[in-house]
Amino acid sequence: MAENVGNADARPDLELDEEFGDTRPTIDEQAMADAEKGCGQTAVGIPMPTGHPGSHPGGHPGGTQRHGGARSMGFRPGGGEAAAAYEARTGIKAPRIIAWEITRSCNLSCAHCRAAAEFGAYEGELSLDQIKSTIDDIVTITNPIIILTGGEPLMRPDIWEIVDYAQDKGAMPVIGTNATLITEAIAAKMAEHKITRISVSVDFPTAEEHDAFRGQVGCFDKTIEGIKIAKRHGVGVQINMTVTTMNADRMEEMHTLAESLGVDAFHIFMLVPTGRGEDLLDKELPPEEYEKVLEWAYERQKTSSLHFKPTDAPHYYRIIRQKAKAEGKKVTREEYGLDAMTRGCLGGITFCFISHTGDIQPCGYFDMQLGNVKEQPFSQIWTESKVFNELRDYSLLKGKCGACEYKAVCGGCRARALSVTGDYLAEEPYCVYVPASMRAEYEEPA
Ligand code: SF4
Ligand code: SF4
Repeated sequence: MAENVGNADARPDLELDEEFGDTRPTIDEQAMADAEKGCGQTAVGIPMPTGHPGSHPGGHPGGTQRHGGARSMGFRPGGGEAAAAYEARTGIKAPRIIAWEITRSCNLSCAHCRAAAEFGAYEGELSLDQIKSTIDDIVTITNPIIILTGGEPLMRPDIWEIVDYAQDKGAMPVIGTNATLITEAIAAKMAEHKITRISVSVDFPTAEEHDAFRGQVGCFDKTIEGIKIAKRHGVGVQINMTVTTMNADRMEEMHTLAESLGVDAFHIFMLVPTGRGEDLLDKELPPEEYEKVLEWAYERQKTSSLHFKPTDAPHYYRIIRQKAKAEGKKVTREEYGLDAMTRGCLGGITFCFISHTGDIQPCGYFDMQLGNVKEQPFSQIWTESKVFNELRDYSLLKGKCGACEYKAVCGGCRARALSVTGDYLAEEPYCVYVPASMRAEYEEPA
């Protein structure tokens, strides 16, 4: 039984300070379950049903709503009977999205890779049987979206068996891939195995820059070709762009590229310096630039045909509310869609990560193993882990995040706090906001 059962402060209900009462988000738990996504290097948002009459060709919904993107569809991650029973029994929300690194092998050596993956087999990877028995356990508490990631998940020969098994058990598998291995035959397999969306990392709008970042000449062209092939086979595509000082000035060009490819979503990822990304520490945006990128995303989303989702950037949800207030708007579901209902950091709250060897983490960047599915059932780790339970209790946040009016909708990046300070409950080091109750401390002495 979790430590926080019955503790109101421990529940991730979105609630803002009185001062921000006007901007209190509308909470529709079921719609949130429809829509919510987590973070992770190759996280994939909620797939839009291709050809759905209510969906914009670019994946953006019809109607007047300009924020929030993906919409309701038949599948409701974490919306099944098992999840409801689990929450009633434990007081803990079941995971809705699980990113699962089914292999660490990769055909590329990208500079920012969370997994620091390389070509070749890795010791101790979960076997197909171990993956199946973990899925068996997961579905006793939830029916999540499972993001099959890596490494490069298409390098795992039994990937289609994993996909089929997850679907048979009531979960929805999607794939995070670098797309360089997508051929007509692979895309046909994706369609045949009902993969509704893949996410593909593209970080620069030109081949020269992208190839240098990805460590392989020709990679950009293969990735773009893979995206086009997938689209031709009716597989939805989301482009993920990891933003650093090297490409922060290329956002508009990247957006143009994404639109020209006719993809469904454009997700910008803020670098979290773990894995091989540690080598890019000096390429991480300073907090002020970080803020500018998120403000750009807010404004750009208003007219974009694509679904946006700044990821690993929890303070985007603070910025939405600040901007909306300045514009005299309320952050409602009608106006802001899913952005009004989800939260910045979902690690350990409705999202987690399973490594290639079966270690469980709050997310792929959160460098702490909370248990291993070879030794303990997933459901037990999700329920009993002290770290998970502390992440669910916002009253434990420290520093600016602890004092912040926006902590329920933002919470700061816990992985970044851990990486920079060694304390996952410490304040987010890359946020410029000063909570109202701390402003006097930050004022310059007269
Ligand atoms: S201080 Fe923390 S909780 Fe508040 S907006 Fe910044 S990162 Fe989010
Ligand atoms: S800890 Fe950071 S990287 Fe991990 S889920 Fe939260 S915001 Fe994303």
